[in-house]
Amino acid sequence: MRLWLVVALIGVTISPLFIMRLVALDNIEAQLRTRRMNELSNYALILSNQIIRTSYFKGDNRETVHADMSQSASLYNGRILIIDKNYTIVKDTYGTLDGMTSISQETIEAMGGNSIRNYNKDDGMLEMAVPIATEDKSDVLGVILFYASTSDIIKTCDSIGRSYNGITTALVGLCILLSLVIANIFTKPLKRVANSIDRMAEGHFDEEIHLRGFSEIKTISDSFNMMLGKMQKVEDSRQEFVSNVSHELKTPITSIKVLADSLNMQEDVPNEVYKEFMQDIVVEIDRENQIINDLLALVKMDKSAADLNVSMVNVNDMLEMILKRLKPIAAKRNIELVFESFRSVSAECDEVKMTLAFTNLVENGIKYNVAGGWVKVSLDADHKYFYVKVADSGIGIPKEYQDQIFERFYRVDKARSRETGGTGLGLAITRNVILMHNGAIKVLSEEDKGSTFVVRIPIKHMAEAGGIRSEKN
Ligand code: ADP
Repeated sequence: MRLWLVVALIGVTISPLFIMRLVALDNIEAQLRTRRMNELSNYALILSNQIIRTSYFKGDNRETVHADMSQSASLYNGRILIIDKNYTIVKDTYGTLDGMTSISQETIEAMGGNSIRNYNKDDGMLEMAVPIATEDKSDVLGVILFYASTSDIIKTCDSIGRSYNGITTALVGLCILLSLVIANIFTKPLKRVANSIDRMAEGHFDEEIHLRGFSEIKTISDSFNMMLGKMQKVEDSRQEFVSNVSHELKTPITSIKVLADSLNMQEDVPNEVYKEFMQDIVVEIDRENQIINDLLALVKMDKSAADLNVSMVNVNDMLEMILKRLKPIAAKRNIELVFESFRSVSAECDEVKMTLAFTNLVENGIKYNVAGGWVKVSLDADHKYFYVKVADSGIGIPKEYQDQIFERFYRVDKARSRETGGTGLGLAITRNVILMHNGAIKVLSEEDKGSTFVVRIPIKHMAEAGGIRSEKN
């Protein structure tokens, strides 16, 4: 990029210099030539008048006229010829054509009364043919041919060109220097960003960059630092997740090992004790199994919305089915399950995942309830969304924990959650399913009074929205 920037800047700054040089020199040369041609024309007119006035063709006063002609010819580094009516060359300042006949094109035309002006570029000569006419212009007595060299004009232009070359070279040097400096100013911050990206790729998320200069560059630096901050958060959460997973998976295994070891160490263990320990081991294995299943479900949910198996689902039927399945568990603690529907709703969603999400909410309503309490599920919709509320009369969630309960492995009361077979992954799974459907979830809760989870899902699935967004509520 730096090279291209330098080349572009040099091109933009230097090409006008060369174009200007060409145009200006051409212009100067043309102007000098026109001026010279006018001078020659004036002199030819004066000479013509002198010839008429002095009766030159009759042979009078020729010496004075010739002396004048020679002086002018040498002044313009040229040649002057006087031709009479019979096309005879009366005087040639070079002295080589005297007495000879000239029937050149210009002579014939000038003899007809026309003045001819011409620039012969090959020879570098200005050529002029002027008629020698009587005062009343009624008769042409002869012709003056005037040839003048433009070598002095060309020399003048060359010397102007040379001084221009000096200035141009200095300007070109300056342009190259400036282009390098500008290219450096522009590419340096980008280089630093590239280096920081490399460092980031190596796993260093804590090295912010602080670029100074144009506001656009500051914006890049701010955006980059913001991205670094986000990556750092993701990395922290990943590490926390990994350590949580290992801890959660280890706990049942440690219990199993303790139970098995204590059996192994005792001799002649009674059958009943064996059975009791074995039952405890089975409970721990079930728990391990539950954690692994929940983890697998969560990993599946981390994929993009493109993985959803979307179909038209009757939401009323789906919710009723969930409540029917959970009724026996609720009945154990004498908890009443109520379904209230304000309208019949059909929506485009992944039925299996949606069932899992609402099952988790209703299960929690039962788990974190008081004996003899209730869980009420209500369904409503407008033209765009359907809304499901899962309310319970349970223990509630203290305000300060309400934001965290959707995080993986987060539990307000670990002991209670463990007792009821909770893994701390249920709400994380629920939230992911809802976000995959471009929906939202929020919780309203008061300690010892109960909790209400409110879910909003679009009726029409928006596949192009893609991915899971970080929207929480
Ligand atoms: P768990 O497997 O522990 O139930 P969840 O992710 O489903 O995990 O819930 C996280 C935590 O949020 C629970 O441990 C519990 O403390 C709290 N919680 C969830 N739902 C409710 C509810 N309806 N009432 C009170 N607390 C709840």
